[in-house]
Amino acid sequence: MNTAEYLAEVERYSAHNYHPLPIILSRGEGAWVWDIEDRKYLDCLAAYSAVNQGHRHPSIVAAAKEQLERLTLTSRAFHNDQMGPFLRELCELAGYEKALPMNSGAEAVETAIKAVRRWGYRRKGIPADQAEIIVCENNFHGRTTTIVSFSTEEAYRADFGPLTPGFRMIPYGDVAALEAAITPNTAAFMVEPLQGEGGVIVPKEGYLWETAELCRQHDVLYVADEIQTGLGRTGQMFCCDWEGVKPDVLVVGKALSGGFYPVSAMLSSDDVMSVFHPGDHGSTFGGNPLGAAVARAALRVIVDEGLAERARELGDWFMGELRAIDSPHVKEVRGRGLMIGVEIKRESGTARPFCEALMDRGILAKETHEQVVRFAPPLVVERSDLEWALGEIAEVL
Ligand SMILES: *Cc1c(COP(=O)(O)O)cnc(C)c1O
Repeated sequence: MNTAEYLAEVERYSAHNYHPLPIILSRGEGAWVWDIEDRKYLDCLAAYSAVNQGHRHPSIVAAAKEQLERLTLTSRAFHNDQMGPFLRELCELAGYEKALPMNSGAEAVETAIKAVRRWGYRRKGIPADQAEIIVCENNFHGRTTTIVSFSTEEAYRADFGPLTPGFRMIPYGDVAALEAAITPNTAAFMVEPLQGEGGVIVPKEGYLWETAELCRQHDVLYVADEIQTGLGRTGQMFCCDWEGVKPDVLVVGKALSGGFYPVSAMLSSDDVMSVFHPGDHGSTFGGNPLGAAVARAALRVIVDEGLAERARELGDWFMGELRAIDSPHVKEVRGRGLMIGVEIKRESGTARPFCEALMDRGILAKETHEQVVRFAPPLVVERSDLEWALGEIAEVL
């Protein structure tokens, strides 16, 4: 089949819940992917940071193959010899006492919501069914019915109701708004330390630390959704590390999979995690040995190859070069590490045609929130690849 035929097939059989760029990819290696006509592209999306380690990292391939030959799924009805080591390695890396494995990011967020609500009732003494979780405008935490209930994006929630109550909305980046929103019934504040899907929004310095301190003073759990920002992307292992903040609850996913097989987790203290008892929560695939073996290898690659430092060094330089491009269309270049957004001025139209023009030149970037072109390549990307890309990006802009 040719590209047009593949596109027609998807048009015919797939739900139209995405608007992808019109290419059919069939191969990937490192920061590069190839389409079925053997055209080569630099992947500047990295599957929304699920492929921080690069496509088909050889040591993750080896770990997956080895595990495929041994055991893939037990369910949590039995133990397996990969889940324990995986959770220990994840807890040691992130500095937590306990971790609960799930599959998609949204499931890990749901797990966190259940944990903090129950903590609110059983530890903090919030009256039954009164727990509130404070969340931020412009957030992205996933697509389940409960999660879209506290989205401010109309398309995410319209006619998916009735929606789940118990969430209180405040503007992102506003410390005073958090203080004003906290009540005796507040169980948690859930926040992305840098909003990715929201358009690469970097809060002003001090925001993470000040909000974490407020939460500590009011006995409110601080929940950081680091599904996209975590595991090296922003130039630290976790984005909260930029301000020395250790969230009470940490949610990770995406790159925990190495881009192979969905793995996510919620991490916390023993005190918070101990609200769960047998039968209270679960997942058939969560903690399966294949996923656990893949995640162990994925974490090793991030540490052994110093991908967080790499993101910081390459990102600082790349962002500087992007800012130096003289274009009448650019409103702002912002980001952290290798999570960079180029905001296109409204009078220049949307970001979509810029992404299409980049695609024609061999760069895959995707618009987020109409006006922003996001550049977030795999962290293994070579400086020379980015040097080449800068020339193309400058032409397009
Ligand atoms: C991608 C993402 C999610 C949802 O993860 P899925 O695996 O798509 O369910 C949640 N939070 C943030 C910050 C994300 O970027």
